[in-house]
Amino acid sequence: MTLYRCDQCGNKTRFDVFDTVRRRRFEHADLGGDVEVEDEEILERTIDRVVCRWCESSDAVIEVHPEG
Ligand SMILES: [Zn+2]
Repeated sequence: MTLYRCDQCGNKTRFDVFDTVRRRRFEHADLGGDVEVEDEEILERTIDRVVCRWCESSDAVIEVHPEG
C-alpha cells in the first residue's frame, strides 16, 4: 500500500483515497443461484484523489516512499 503525508497539517495516517479499479473476477455460481467470488486480480488501479481526513486538503497530500 502507498503511504501518504499531508504537508498542510502533518497528518500521516488518515486519508480518503478515491480510486478507479479494473479487475478480473472468477465468479462461481452454484445451481441454487448463489455466486461466490473465488479469485480476483487487480488489472489496473488509478488513484484519482487523496484527501486528508484532518484538514480536508487534497492539494497538500503527497506520496511517501519509505527508504528501503
Ligand atoms: Zn491535512
